This record gives sequence, C-alpha cells and structure tokens, in this order.
Amino acid sequence: MAGSSSDIIVGIDLGTTNSLVAYCDQQGPRVLVNERGERLVPSVVRYESTAGGESRAVVGSEARAAAGEFPATTISSVKRLMGRSVDDARADLPYFSFDVRAGERGTARLAIPTPSGERIVSPQEVSADILRTLREQASAALGAEVHRAVVTVPAYFDDAQRQATRESGRLAGLEVVRILNEPTAAALAYGLGLDRQSERNAAKEPVAVFDLGGGTFDVSILKILSAGGPAGEETSVFQVIATSGDTHLGGDDVDRLLVDYALDGRPVGSVAPGDMARLVASAEAAKRYLSQGDRAVIGVDQSEGPRVERSLDRGAFERLIEGWVERAITCCRRAMGDAARVLGMDGGSMRVGAVVMVGGSTRIPLVRRRVGEFFGLDPYVALDPDEVVALGASVQASILSGTTRGRLLLDVIPLSLGIETVGGAVAKLIMRNSAVPTRATEMFSTSVDGQTSIAIHILQGERELSQDCRSLGMFHVRGIAPMPAGIPQLQVEFAVDSNGVLSVSAVERRSGRRAAVQVIPNHGLTAEEVDRIERESVVHAREDMARHRVIDLVVNSRLDLKWIGDRMERFGHLVEADYLGQLREAAEALAAMVARAESDWRSVEAGEFYTAKEFLDRLSVRLQEVSITESLRVDPPGALPGGA
Ligand code: AMP
Repeated sequence: MAGSSSDIIVGIDLGTTNSLVAYCDQQGPRVLVNERGERLVPSVVRYESTAGGESRAVVGSEARAAAGEFPATTISSVKRLMGRSVDDARADLPYFSFDVRAGERGTARLAIPTPSGERIVSPQEVSADILRTLREQASAALGAEVHRAVVTVPAYFDDAQRQATRESGRLAGLEVVRILNEPTAAALAYGLGLDRQSERNAAKEPVAVFDLGGGTFDVSILKILSAGGPAGEETSVFQVIATSGDTHLGGDDVDRLLVDYALDGRPVGSVAPGDMARLVASAEAAKRYLSQGDRAVIGVDQSEGPRVERSLDRGAFERLIEGWVERAITCCRRAMGDAARVLGMDGGSMRVGAVVMVGGSTRIPLVRRRVGEFFGLDPYVALDPDEVVALGASVQASILSGTTRGRLLLDVIPLSLGIETVGGAVAKLIMRNSAVPTRATEMFSTSVDGQTSIAIHILQGERELSQDCRSLGMFHVRGIAPMPAGIPQLQVEFAVDSNGVLSVSAVERRSGRRAAVQVIPNHGLTAEEVDRIERESVVHAREDMARHRVIDLVVNSRLDLKWIGDRMERFGHLVEADYLGQLREAAEALAAMVARAESDWRSVEAGEFYTAKEFLDRLSVRLQEVSITESLRVDPPGALPGGA
C-alpha cells in the first residue's frame, strides 16, 4: 500500500517566522529536509521582477538573507495578515517594512513595487508560495508527488483565518485534508491522546501547551475527550478549553533587554542602524549561548565611536529576564483559571497531566524552570521545540491516512534502558517489559582521578555492550571538583512516564552539580525491530555475558592494582621482604592478565582472571592493615601561639 503518492499526507507547520514539513510512517514522525539539509524554511518571500516582466518568488533562507537589501519587496510575518482586514492588523503595521493596503471589503493586501508600477498580492498567495516550496521539498525527500497535507494554525485563529489557510493550500496545489490547532499538534507529537490500553479506563488529565517563540506567546489548555475507536487505536479528540497569550511577547524582547544592558545607560539612538543590527545579532547569540554556558559577552565594534561590550553570567541574565518570564507565567495563571471555570472546578484544584514546550525561547533554562514550578511537573522537552508542531501535524496526517496502525504501544517498555559504564559495558536501569510509568535510581562513580565532567550515555537494547545497543542520547554533568577515582557519587535516575517519555537526570552528590535530558525511546522503532533486537540478544547472550564479566574484571583489577601499588610504595618497608615479594608476583600476574584482556578479551578465561584477582585481594589484607595503622598515627594538633 505504502508509496503510492495519493496515500501520502504530510504535516505542515506554517509558522510566522519559520515553516516546516514532516512525515510520519511506521518509524514515527520526522522532519523532511531540503536538498541543502535545512529543516526550517524561513517564512519569507521576495518578489523579484524578471527581465521579461514576469514576477518570481524567492522563498526561504535566500529571501531572508537579503531582506535588508530589498525591504519593500520582501514579505515576512505574513501569517499576521492571513484572513484579516487592515483594521484588524493595525497594531502590527508598524512592524512591516512593506506596504499593506486595504483590498476588497477592507481585507489586507500587499503592494509590491515592480519596474512597471506595482503588483498587489494577497496574504494567501504569499503563504501559497511558502507551501509550494514545502510541497516540493517533501516530494523530493519522499520520492513521490505530494498533494495532500494537514496544516496547523494557532488555536485562536477564527474562521476567516482558517479559510485563508485552506485557500493558500489550494493555490499551492495541496489538498488541505485538515486544519489542525497548533497546540493539538504539539500534544500529538508526544503521543498524548493516542489511545493506549493503560489509559483507556483512566481519566485523562488536561494538557498544557506553552509556546514561546520569537515574537509571540501562546498558552493553551487542552482537554482530551475519550473517543476510543473500535480497535482501540483511534485518536482521542482534543478540545482547546482555554487559551491566553500575548501577540508581542517573545525572544525578540530578550534580545532588546540584552542590547539595553550592553549599552549600559547610553540611549539606543546613539548607535548607528548598521551597528545596531550587529549589536542585536550579538545579543541574540549571547542569549542562545547562555542556554548552555555560564557566561557570555555582547559586543560590537561601532563604525564610529568606541567598541560597545559588556559580559554577563547566567545569574545576571536570569535577573534581567525575570519580569519577562513572569509575563508569560501570568498568562498561564489566567489560562488555568479559565480552564478551571470551563471544567467547573475551583482554581486551586486545577492541574494538568503534561506540559509540552514549543518555540525556540523555551530552550532558556529559566523558562523551563518557572514553567515546571508553575504547573508542578517537569515540562516535556524531548522533542526539538521548533519541530514539535510539524511532527504532531504529521502524526495527525498518518492517522488520517491509516499508516499509524501497528504503532508501538507503550503499556510496557519493549527494550531495556540503561547507561554506558566504563569499558563500554552497559548498566541497565529499567528492564524490558516493565510497565509504564516506572522509575529507577542507581549510584555510579568515576574510574579516573580528577575527573571534572562525567558523560552519561543513554542506551536501549538487550545486549551487554554499548556498541551493540541503540544510542538514545548523551549528556554531561560538569563542574565537579576534582576527586580521586571512585569518590564522586553520581546518582542517576531514569523515569518513564505513561506517555513513554524518558527523563534521565544525574546529580553528583558531593558537589550538587546536576544535569538532565529527556528522550522518547520508542521513536524510530518498529515492532519488527523490537523482535529482531530481542532475537539477537538471545543469540549473543553467552558471549555478551562473558565479555561483560571480563570488562568488569579489567576495571576492578585496575583499581586494585593502583591501590596496592601505591600502598606497597608507601608502606612496603614496614612488611617482611618475603611477603612483599609474594605481593609483587601476584600483582604482576594480574597486571599481565589485564593487559591480555585489553588486547583481546577472548584470550583470557573469566574464571581464571577472577581467581587471580581474588588471590591478590586476599593476599593484600596484611598490607591494608599496616597502611591503616600507619594512617591513624597522626601528628598532635598544631599549637596556637600563646597570648601576650
Ligand atoms: P521560534 O519563533 O519558535 O522559531 O523561536 C525563535 C526564538 O527562539 C528566537 O527569539 C530565538 O532567539 C530563540 N531561541 C532559539 N534558540 C534559542 C536558545 N538556544 N536559547 C534561547 N533562545 C533561543
């Protein structure tokens, strides 16, 4: 069935700043890239006049890159004009560099200068040029003509705005099989509302979608209406029960706050426009950097006048944007209050089961933290916040075309989850077939002295070695004070919630340093692959276990050899020469075995290896006793100088 072009339905996020197209098959949803490998198509169109008097549309990154050069013929943020009259759009007009006019019945039209006069285009036509680019991109990526799409719109779009979006699709040669609310798409991307055995009888809690982009903020509270289909595979219906937001609240405001900070009291007007553009770019880069790093510099060499430069750390940045974040939280409070009224609950008892994060500005750690505190749960951040809406649209598309049948259901975890330990072995924290939700915690330490950063590599699979498992992601706990190997205490927690989202967090208990990440383990997996992985684990079980055992013995023997060698050097003169000779011999025998195992693990026999290690351990007990006794013989405390 698959492959015929009429079956294909893609999901499209037609955004204010960027647009994306995604497709979902048995492996799950994915964004379709263009031939340059770009995932996002900037929602920017330039109308060029060709020599023959024709007009040509340049769409995407090329149009955006040259926007400064062609302000009057480059259209951006056209979504703000879709299906609206000039009067409706009055507040946005100062933000446009192009000419907006009233057309038929006052509807917004764009006047594009041409060599022979001007050309009037509708917002629908501009959006159609963007959709056409996405359709071509999807057709090329899938190797089949695409004619049908699910297109997303904001929850607050009225009928005229939705109709305008459909019309754009038609102009672009696309049948818009469904107009989907963006927050609903975001929820679907996480599989929320896709019926599951475990959820069928449970009351489904509402879902919040927090969408903070470059220029706008929207928060929506969705209710999942049970609509369990006959096969139990139907999706539920999402109903948006409350929305709130601000059409001029976004990452751009943070860039402006940082520019003001960099100018340190100097008026914005004192900077030449060209320098200002570069200063804003530097501020935006600093902002992005501070989502990961601890300190950033904002700076620009002015064409006239001294260099502007100021640095700030994460703490100063967070104090600067506190009020901005609170504006978004205030909207959340309003939306939750409205949702409670709709559900006939008192505001205090209103809660949501999940919070989905959308939009580039949700990468800011303070935003994540405040949202988590406000809703009382860790927000979902496993998916790229720029891609969530398009991915969800493609999930809806695949439901409509029937391709989601046979999806992996998440009542149980189909494959074990764990992390890589030293030597490439795997420590499994959650075993396969565990019911969701589930969590597990384990302590780990370091194997090298003075490590200040610990990598956590998350793995999925049944095999004993990381190279044979599926890598789900990697993150680092940094800033740990240097300590000898084995002393840091790293507590790693795995938590899989009922939607199959895995949160991995790690905290080093002595330094309090922590880091966390979310992933969706089952994305990209089919039921057939799970079967194959299971079969392979059985075939390789014996060999894998032997190898895992040898790796563990190498690691532990190395630690023993280091410790015993160190004690022999310091306290060897306190024991008999015979005993010291025996110790040396046993240590050399074990060291030889370690070396052999490291060059080829098959060349050593695990049982023999174990015996050699045990022998040395037992033999070294005397040395340990001597070293402890010596260490206890401390000097008397230093005397304080006598008073006058
Ligand atoms: P969107 O409209 O969803 O594409 O969001 C774009 C906004 O997200 C812009 O203001 C970006 O500066 C901002 N943004 C993107 N990445 C990051 C990041 N890593 N940290 C902070 N802000 C970011």
